[in-house]
Amino acid sequence: MPEVKRVVQPVEVNYVCDKCGHGMMQKTSEMDAKTGEIEHKCVICDHVQIFKWVSYPRVEYIAESGDS
Ligand SMILES: [Zn+2]
Repeated sequence: MPEVKRVVQPVEVNYVCDKCGHGMMQKTSEMDAKTGEIEHKCVICDHVQIFKWVSYPRVEYIAESGDS
């Protein structure tokens, strides 16, 4: 396979608190290697939520517009 390159753009992915609807969820612990669970806490109301295999905030890369 030849090497291929394309232009991508970083986007920040955040999760807005389910409880207060205003705060962003922030990772408060490392991922549990067995279950994939990662504890997060709302920066405003301290609501705790567990996400599996994903953490917030995180950066993802998307193709620049026109490419997809
Ligand atoms: Zn909240």
